[in-house]
Amino acid sequence: LLGDDDDDVGAIVATQQQEFLHDDIARFNVFDPGATSSTSSILLAKVRSMNQSDTQHAISKAHAALPHWKLDTSAYYRSQLLSKWSTLINKHSEDISKIMTMESGKPLHESRSEIVYGTNYLDFYAGEAIRSNSAGGGVLYPSPFVATTTNSKEDGSASSSSPPPRGRCMAINEAVGVCGLITPWNFPLAMLTRKIGPALAAGCTVVLKPSDKTPLTAVALHTLARRAGVPAGVFELITADAGMAKEVGYEMCVNPLVKKISFTGSTSVGKLLMKNSADTVKRLSLELGGNAPFIVFEDADLDQAVTAAIASKFRNAGQTCVCADRFIIHSSVESEFVTKFMDKVKQIVVGHGMKDGVTMGPLISSVAAGTLKQKVDTAIAEGATCILGGYSLTESHGPNFFAPTILTNVNTQSSIWTTENFGPVVAITTYDTEEEAVSLANDTPTGLASYFFTTNLSRIFRVSSLLENGIVGVNEGVISAAAAPFGGVKESGLGREGGPWGIHEYLETKYVFVNT
Ligand code: ADP
Repeated sequence: LLGDDDDDVGAIVATQQQEFLHDDIARFNVFDPGATSSTSSILLAKVRSMNQSDTQHAISKAHAALPHWKLDTSAYYRSQLLSKWSTLINKHSEDISKIMTMESGKPLHESRSEIVYGTNYLDFYAGEAIRSNSAGGGVLYPSPFVATTTNSKEDGSASSSSPPPRGRCMAINEAVGVCGLITPWNFPLAMLTRKIGPALAAGCTVVLKPSDKTPLTAVALHTLARRAGVPAGVFELITADAGMAKEVGYEMCVNPLVKKISFTGSTSVGKLLMKNSADTVKRLSLELGGNAPFIVFEDADLDQAVTAAIASKFRNAGQTCVCADRFIIHSSVESEFVTKFMDKVKQIVVGHGMKDGVTMGPLISSVAAGTLKQKVDTAIAEGATCILGGYSLTESHGPNFFAPTILTNVNTQSSIWTTENFGPVVAITTYDTEEEAVSLANDTPTGLASYFFTTNLSRIFRVSSLLENGIVGVNEGVISAAAAPFGGVKESGLGREGGPWGIHEYLETKYVFVNT
């Protein structure tokens, strides 16, 4: 895979792998989560497990590369490298899709879509790099000072003792510096490009640690970045197993050469990174967990709501931080919504992501499948009715597979409701008034995405502002895009990725006043 640029097929990221195949180098295994049994789990690759000292070394390289990258390269040059990188990724789209599906389990068509979505970030920031108010740019204002006065006369005029300096006030955008980036397994490509694209465009250098479950897509992207001409030091890759991830993350947080951490992952790890970054007062962007409400009002177009629910809930087998989690359905339309929804859910084809026709793959691990089963069982014991699924598909499919599941009458104190379920489980409760629906939706410490369905225009604006979320989908279930701001409020995180907001996460504003 990823052969020379003129070939279609070659050796899988061989150049990077060969150096790891010495016995004295620590390695970790990457498995296919879609394997049919844990005893026959397919070993995809052995990847180098780097440690704290490797991380220090990578940070030093990124630090050494920073002055040239930040000050001597033009925004046009950085823009061209990002475009070239994007072109190479798209050129090798089929190979990268296979790598992504094999290590993450998502169906091949979802991997292909992720490549389009993920490279959109590189294309967007290739453009954003050269906007006048972005990296290296700034804004020029007239002198910002006001006259200082000593005494006011009775007629209201003032006499000034020290005239304000004449001059120009400049607000200049500068790259933050070396950035430590940590990414999860659920979007092995797009979470990387969403961070690296704006960072490089801004003039930052980066050290990236991808998830131990999906390092191969990252190795492929790193290989293609080098091929595109991104210099060593500007983008350093640290692969590490789950144990070493802690050491690597700790080093990124405490190392004074790192000026910013951008993390996408669980809320608990995000909080730890925030604590560890306190002593060096780093800038932080955190994209953490969600527990998205999906409200259907009595005046909604139910077919539209059902289509959106399928896309929002079952994408990546329910393993995205913006997946609809808590279904809050008006009691007068619950029965019709559930009937229509169940019809569609039954059409989901579960299987290995590489198989034609499969629309839902496995969960990332058997531990995830086991945790989900426990939550479903507890919800049923606490009063929920399971009208579809509710069981693991270990025997028929493999240890990581879980059946698409619908629970109605869910107790809102059950863990399936109060915590993100990160799987193909639909938890439904009903309500009677708009206030009740909004209050149920906001009754959670997290605030990433929310969705609601209505045909009432004033309700659209009213409820959009009442919901405590960073992202609101109205009559739509999948709304992420490179040009749009993505991020949460409350415990879902800090900062925004995407659009012009995304590059400002990697820029500092410096104020320079020139007395003329
Ligand atoms: P998920 O449940 O999506 O795996 P995690 O927060 O555990 O969420 O993982 C997201 C990323 O954070 C992965 O790259 C993982 O290796 C990394 N990670 C996990 N634990 C730590 C830690 N203690 N410090 C730094 N990074 C970590």
